Amino acid sequence: MTLAPHDGLLTIDSHVDIPWPDGPSPFEDGPRCVDLPKMRAGGIAAVCFAAYVPQGPRDDAGHIAATGRARAMLEVIAAMAPADGSGGRLAPTADAIEAAYAAGTPAIIPAIENGYALGRDLAVLDEFAAAGVRYITLTHNGHNELADAAIPRRDLNDTEAEHGGLSALGREAIARMNQLGILIDVSHSAKSTMMQAAALSRTPIVATHSCIRALCDHPRNLDDEQLDTLAATGGLVQITIVSNFLRKQARSSDLNVANIADHIDYAVKRIGIEHVGIGTDFDGGGGVKGFMNAAQAPNLTAELARRGYDRAALAQIWGGNFLRLLRKAESKRSLF
Ligand SMILES: [Zn+2]
Repeated sequence: MTLAPHDGLLTIDSHVDIPWPDGPSPFEDGPRCVDLPKMRAGGIAAVCFAAYVPQGPRDDAGHIAATGRARAMLEVIAAMAPADGSGGRLAPTADAIEAAYAAGTPAIIPAIENGYALGRDLAVLDEFAAAGVRYITLTHNGHNELADAAIPRRDLNDTEAEHGGLSALGREAIARMNQLGILIDVSHSAKSTMMQAAALSRTPIVATHSCIRALCDHPRNLDDEQLDTLAATGGLVQITIVSNFLRKQARSSDLNVANIADHIDYAVKRIGIEHVGIGTDFDGGGGVKGFMNAAQAPNLTAELARRGYDRAALAQIWGGNFLRLLRKAESKRSLF
């Protein structure tokens, strides 16, 4: 019997949101794009579930609320891995992800989207690391205390560029994240922020859900200089499947897996296969025809295989590269 291209791959989706606070159960095949049954059906071994904190007022009350929301969402993410083993398994290390994969259990990797969750208090980084958080997206849409974002929030009085990239606090945050083994996620960051983070971080940086600017001129996408810089750190661009990042003003029904593969092809040709992966942004806006949920992941793999990606290449793109980054961050951890 021949193996289908997707079968048996250790697949990691590096960015999925969670419905919150009263979303449908992750344990049943319901309306979520990613739940545990769909991960199993689609051969998705591991997912980074993001505690997403929307940008709000940058005052004490706003920051306290943001930290509280991140804490609560991390608890909901952890609850996808109940102690009786009936759900997924919390897998905050590369070894734990591989062990969960070997056991056939969906691996849950906690993450935080938006450094606004830290407010001005870097001490919470230790708490988040203890909860298993493996990356923090420096910004969402809107500048925060750490850094400038790719898309300013004029409704929150953002100027074009507030810090000129990273703030002093943002630089401190990166140093502490390096010590804690938390990856620096530059999706949503301004280019200045991204370039400074790449120069500063002791471990490779990652864009967990971004596309290619040369193919779609959107401020959320990475230009060639950014791609080259990302690769120079040993880092990764995880191509996302948000329709208007794939093609200008497209809707999900206008696009299919070939459009995703075009962005993957471009990144692979520009910076090499070891610097490319996949982060869908499911349940946060991701989805195209034929890949509307985790169960349909084999359709993208089939398209890549059709374009000549062999098994080793597919294994790298789908998870091997991201595991390498996690391991690198773990090896550079220096807690004391
Ligand atoms: Zn996002």
